Amino acid sequence: SEAQTRWFKGMFRPWCLFMQSILKNSVDVSTEHPITLGQAKSVVDGVPIAIKDNICTERMTTTCGSKMLEDFESPYDATVVKLLRDAGALIVAKCNLDQFGMGSHNVHSHFGHVNNPKNTDGHFHFSLESLPSHQRSAGGSSGGSAAAVAADLCFAALGSDTGGSVRLPASYCGIVGFKPSYGRISRRGLIAYANSLDTVGILAKDTHDAELIYDLLSKYDKQDPTSMLPSMRERIQQEYADCYDTMDPDSLKGVRIGVPQEYRVKELDESIMEIWRMGIQKLQKLGATIVPISLPNTQYALPAYYILALAEASSNMARYDGMRYGHTAETTTSDLLYADARTEGLGAEVKRRIMMGTFALSAGHYEDHFLPAQKIRRLVQTDFNNVFCMPNPLLDDAVADLSNTSKVHAIITPGAISTAPLISKCIPEVDDPTQHTSVKSVDGFIDDVMTVPASLAGIPAITVPAGKSTVDGWPVGLQLLAQYGDEKTLLHVAKLFQ
Ligand code: GLN
Repeated sequence: SEAQTRWFKGMFRPWCLFMQSILKNSVDVSTEHPITLGQAKSVVDGVPIAIKDNICTERMTTTCGSKMLEDFESPYDATVVKLLRDAGALIVAKCNLDQFGMGSHNVHSHFGHVNNPKNTDGHFHFSLESLPSHQRSAGGSSGGSAAAVAADLCFAALGSDTGGSVRLPASYCGIVGFKPSYGRISRRGLIAYANSLDTVGILAKDTHDAELIYDLLSKYDKQDPTSMLPSMRERIQQEYADCYDTMDPDSLKGVRIGVPQEYRVKELDESIMEIWRMGIQKLQKLGATIVPISLPNTQYALPAYYILALAEASSNMARYDGMRYGHTAETTTSDLLYADARTEGLGAEVKRRIMMGTFALSAGHYEDHFLPAQKIRRLVQTDFNNVFCMPNPLLDDAVADLSNTSKVHAIITPGAISTAPLISKCIPEVDDPTQHTSVKSVDGFIDDVMTVPASLAGIPAITVPAGKSTVDGWPVGLQLLAQYGDEKTLLHVAKLFQ
């Protein structure tokens, strides 16, 4: 029941503190990073954290949910993992995912699908064998990370979010999914799906917990060429200082929140609409001013995302050639080695995406698909810049427009178009990339419609649990968005909202 869940949550922090105190007061087992007995290294010292299996860890395999990397052991820890280990966090597990992050329901993994641990009967159900007909999707691609947090198996988990892979599972599992601005958190050691969109994200029980992890990970990394530079971090801090100074810690007075009409797509369930409305009322009660806004290019964001992400993916996947690392085919003819290794090692969804991405990049189609998608990406970014009162620090000529009452500090939208769907509806009937029946997988793309615009714009986004559907009782998440680099406002609104 909800009360049991709350109780567990209430017990979890004291349990972590208790474990910390035991560890600190007994023998110091860490020779690598000696600690002072009796003193916690950081807020996450001794706390169990799970990691999505496309983030490299030195001590466990990093499979990307694929047969191709089934036995792959990374020679180094991803920067985010290193930061957590240095802070004393316990890396307790690697979590299942859609192969290489490609999917929205965690049904495209070589190791099987992920079940949503939430259940309306108040019990958690873990079924590794047969698939109960009522079993729901945990979302994807960070489905394992979301399920682990929702089932209280860890304090928080890291996921990756290219087009919504942290936010969608969080919505389905009734937890918080936070994707910071592109470049805020290092991508070194995150195995690439689509480099220009990939971000490391955080899954946690509430916004406060997510912020604790974010504060640890939000660091410049000179080994990631796309990491946000220290000068930019400072500039953001200075440019937004005026606004931060007037922020009331206990209310949303003076904060304007936009409601974009374009997110009211025809596929949006009525029960989600209702919770969106309730969320808006709650923000008003907290003192926020609600402003209707328009983001006219939202409708093109989903097709543009799937062209750009797949184009980048098709290029990234070329490195799995069966020779340097990963799955190798048992073949004697060298000309078949590459083809056989990829045929055996990569899953159907990955192959489908390599084909679509290669098509979009090939001569004759590049101008028709890839270039227009790039232009749409810029239009989506411009849409956001036009409605936020905070200036985009990436634009030299951008100026703050804090007193303009038609401009907003944050935006609220649904996190997903529905509650968690049945797994049986998400698994492709024929998992063959050349078959038309795989169209089911293309239909599934619509589930990302709420999350991809923020990914294209690189802005920070968070989904927070906002209630239960009156139709099926399953959790519903709402999404909050803010200007590039403005995590502070976003987390402020999310903490008060939750
Ligand atoms: N579902 C989206 C896709 O398949 C997003 C995945 C992600 O964010 N990793 O591309």
